[in-house]
Amino acid sequence: MPDRSGGESSDPEQDRDWIGRVRAGLLAWYDLGHRDLPWRRSGDPYAVLVSEVMLVQTTVEAVVPYFERFLARFPSVEALAEAPEEEVVKAWEGLGYYRRARQLWAAARAIRAEHGGVVPSEPEALRALPGVGPYIAGAVASIAFDRPAPILEANSERVLGRLVACEEPAGSSAFRTRLWGVADRLVRGPAPGRLNQALMELGATVCVPRAPRCLGCPVAHMCRARSAGRQESIPVRRPRAEPLPVREQAALIERQGRHLLLRRGPKGLWAGFWEFPTIWIEGSDPAKRRASVQPEAPESAFRRLTGLDLGLGPILGSFAFGVTRYRVELAVVRAEDRGGPAGPSPAHAEIGWFAPADFDGLAMGSAQRKVARLASPPGVF
Ligand code: SF4
Repeated sequence: MPDRSGGESSDPEQDRDWIGRVRAGLLAWYDLGHRDLPWRRSGDPYAVLVSEVMLVQTTVEAVVPYFERFLARFPSVEALAEAPEEEVVKAWEGLGYYRRARQLWAAARAIRAEHGGVVPSEPEALRALPGVGPYIAGAVASIAFDRPAPILEANSERVLGRLVACEEPAGSSAFRTRLWGVADRLVRGPAPGRLNQALMELGATVCVPRAPRCLGCPVAHMCRARSAGRQESIPVRRPRAEPLPVREQAALIERQGRHLLLRRGPKGLWAGFWEFPTIWIEGSDPAKRRASVQPEAPESAFRRLTGLDLGLGPILGSFAFGVTRYRVELAVVRAEDRGGPAGPSPAHAEIGWFAPADFDGLAMGSAQRKVARLASPPGVF
């Protein structure tokens, strides 16, 4: 219970009055207006599921155009379950974290096989679907079916962490356990779907990571971090680890206007994606390109990948990109094809020669898409 003498109890979430006031403040604020997001319009559970899978590790701004295109192409569970996996991954291209696309496709197949094509409403049944963890299950159950299921994602985590002034380090199990508890208490009241959306909306628009706009916050009077002047230092961040450096090299190998590409195997980074022959040069090896601990000359590494004898030319260009906890520098060289039958390394599923006009139809990661631009005459791609 609150300390009426002027101080504050240590755990406000144990105070039913505090919970009730936070809930009421959030719902009233949300009902006054919120962003018009396409997945909120229909309330279709399938659309909510697709949007929530896309939103994992990705911003709303990035997701909106992908969501609209995806729903136009796969408008129902049945349409998604029917589509070849490759087509689904292609529609996801550019969003990153491609495992999500494969899992969403697998979830659609499971919904068709086990639930007659109808997205289940209970969090436990949702959690049994491929790729659906507690957050996605809670979001779909609450938003699409108004079930009192808690959620915790980046935005609501920040809001709740500040509301209760949680001093545990962000990401620690103590932090997450406490905040799941707060989320659970809050959602057990009227309008759980709107309540969860209000929490996410507040985190996205008002209780932002830096310089939260507390003057416009509907729950400012209940916020422990604000009353302690700690709103900018909660959640408590651990220093971020430096990304691990990686150096790789890709080769443009051309025969009669067509370029050699390989399709990666079914597991690991960029599983099933097409790429120009790419070798590990130095540093970490997140894509598992290194064949042995012994040093290997680039010509020999490319021969192992493609079966071809090659003469490597100068570097045409290079660029850097981040993937998970790695920072990759990718250099692109032109390679002279000196013959030999092309054949994929055991790590790859397929090999083929493609004209630049074909590149657009192949599923590729965004770094390899940049390599494709270097391989294409202006205006083709
Ligand atoms: Fe966030 Fe400030 Fe509102 Fe607290 S008062 S929830 S820190 S915006």
